[in-house]
Amino acid sequence: MVKIQSLEPVRCAALIRQARCVVALTGAGISTAAGIPDFRGPQGLYVTRRYDPEKVFEIGWFRRSPQYFYEFSRDFVDTVKDIRPTFTHRWLAEREQTGCLAGVITQNIDILHQQAGSRKVIELHGSYRSATCTACGTQYADLSYAWWQQAMAASPTPPLALCSRCNGVLKPDIVFFGELVDHYSPAEQLVRQCDLLLVLGSSLKVTPASFLPHQTQATTIVVNRGPVLLPPAPHRYFVDRDLDAYFREVAESLRG
Ligand SMILES: [Zn+2]
Repeated sequence: MVKIQSLEPVRCAALIRQARCVVALTGAGISTAAGIPDFRGPQGLYVTRRYDPEKVFEIGWFRRSPQYFYEFSRDFVDTVKDIRPTFTHRWLAEREQTGCLAGVITQNIDILHQQAGSRKVIELHGSYRSATCTACGTQYADLSYAWWQQAMAASPTPPLALCSRCNGVLKPDIVFFGELVDHYSPAEQLVRQCDLLLVLGSSLKVTPASFLPHQTQATTIVVNRGPVLLPPAPHRYFVDRDLDAYFREVAESLRG
């Protein structure tokens, strides 16, 4: 049996220093420290407001009754609009600027990587940053949460956000259940070119993100609270620690 190897921050820093091309894959765990609620948790919207996640993000439901999704969206935007990126989000953005991080692949729809200053971000599940009119196909880009709030409030049929050209219902470019993840190929390419993969705050239970670490033999460092669905291997390290605390120490070692 292959042993599960952990990794001290100082050794993590050494591996980052040696790496030619680092890629990060991030999941919900990187955003919980920012205050993004776990919607499935006891205080989450799915519980307190009784939203059914199977309906909120299900494309058939959206087509029949977009109202349900938009009621969730109104609460979601209200919850996340003032949330700021974490230390780890900002640290990743800095690594990109200094040249060793080739990009971030994220499972999150919260736009926090871009807010932190990351430029190369592949959003596997999309986000509220852009939208498409379900009637005429007009595309809306560079949207902020403030824009959504305004659009939902100004609509003649709140909280539905409508197209300014044809009054059709807008759909944010979030990947719903029943839709294809359209950014998987570029994500796979990015993973294949790296020589160090950081998997941060993901338990790797959700496809297609869970496929990505299998696409490379590069050194892989997984930092996540709780179990991760990835078999141990000689090139893989597993750290069960708080992300921000761990990367503060890594950053300290890199400076030293
Ligand atoms: Zn339209």
